Amino acid sequence: MFDHPKEECGVVGITTSVDASRLAFFALYAIQHRGQESAGLATYNGKINIKTGMGLISQALNEPDIELLKGSFSIGHTRYSTTGSTKIENAQPIGCLVGSEEIALSHNGNVINAQGIRDELIEWGCEFNSTSDSEVILQLLANAPGKKWKDKISYMMNRLQGAYSLTVLTKDGVIGIRDPLGVRPLCLGKIDDGYVLASESCAIDHIGGEYIREIDPGEAVFITRDDVKTIFKKESPKIAACVFENIYFARPDSILDDQLVYTTRKKMGAQLAIEHPVEADIVIGVPDSAIAAAVGYAEQSGIPFTEGLVKNRYVGRTFILPDQRLREVGVRRKLNPLKEIIKDKSVIVVDDSIVRGTTTPFVVDLLRKAGVKEIHMRICAPPIKWPCHFGVDMATKSELLASNKSIDQIQNYIKADSLGYLSIEGLMESVPKASNKYCDACFTGKYPIPVQLEMSKFNLE
Ligand code: SF4
Repeated sequence: MFDHPKEECGVVGITTSVDASRLAFFALYAIQHRGQESAGLATYNGKINIKTGMGLISQALNEPDIELLKGSFSIGHTRYSTTGSTKIENAQPIGCLVGSEEIALSHNGNVINAQGIRDELIEWGCEFNSTSDSEVILQLLANAPGKKWKDKISYMMNRLQGAYSLTVLTKDGVIGIRDPLGVRPLCLGKIDDGYVLASESCAIDHIGGEYIREIDPGEAVFITRDDVKTIFKKESPKIAACVFENIYFARPDSILDDQLVYTTRKKMGAQLAIEHPVEADIVIGVPDSAIAAAVGYAEQSGIPFTEGLVKNRYVGRTFILPDQRLREVGVRRKLNPLKEIIKDKSVIVVDDSIVRGTTTPFVVDLLRKAGVKEIHMRICAPPIKWPCHFGVDMATKSELLASNKSIDQIQNYIKADSLGYLSIEGLMESVPKASNKYCDACFTGKYPIPVQLEMSKFNLE
């Protein structure tokens, strides 16, 4: 029910002297926000051992599982489905044989030509156990021509189109691979007796590691306990890192594009204040993801920031809420206004995005009932008009509020006193890299590679 794009997936890979699975388990906790449908770990200890389960990491894995997953190399995964449905067969890591050697793989992203490659692999004699594009990547890598990893990865990168940040467990260490567009993040860190690969740097921090750098688009690195080597690099004519990682997905304490995400979000908020100033008493943010932007808005405008909504962090997974009254209860389960603070005030409310527009009217209503005098909604992303094909489950084009309504119509629909979205130019001013290094297709419709517009996440079912 909460109107955000759905997180994609998170991956980790660890080499250490003992108990790699335990460290991978803790690292996974740091990236739980990237997927809550299933989770899993794989280790190598003479053979590959995999344990996956449905739900949150704490539901999917437990102490006896970790005890059984012996070995000094481990990979992990936390999943939100962008291709394939929510079932245990689609949980990751997944494993297969490369000749007589076993490997396992964790994937974040979405491959847009998976269907054609899957058909071809079936003709080659491959059998599939899942309906995810990740198994297509695994089988392609396993069956790619060449004996060396660099040859197989080169073949795989030449065939796959779309987004894939991977950790691959082998008998000798862990490979980290990032697609040539660099859509999804992947970074490298050092721990006392080994190395870490993770979707976000906060996972490295959580296990006491030291962040080193991002894996480059088109790069494959091999980590062992005492070494890290780039084993392949495909020069990429185009980079298209997902700009939404900066707006919403990544944790504020992660480093993206060499900048703390919190800092980037504050800049977005400051830019929003420049583009959409308004007189008001206070600035609040919709917790948690819009807080940094609200602080940035407040600093730039000189209007004080305060907390105005408190989030209940322990609300379980979403239920279908069939009528208006229950939907209202749904918002109340998650957000509670600080009435004394906001009553009779004119309030600027900063949020990160509006997707379908299912929550914002309830947030506005909640604030009105708490006695707020004026509500000025400020969104620190441009209007979302196009669906994502690179690992984010947003909505179809017809479901996206801004693809069907003008800004004035949206303001009327959400019943705010004013509404302002960050411009695409303002967004690009706020992010660390040059605008031509980002994908912004959900705002502009300019996809970095051609896509089939009405693709479904159940294509491989
Ligand atoms: S379409 Fe939007 S969400 Fe998808 S990769 Fe591009 S910027 Fe990210």
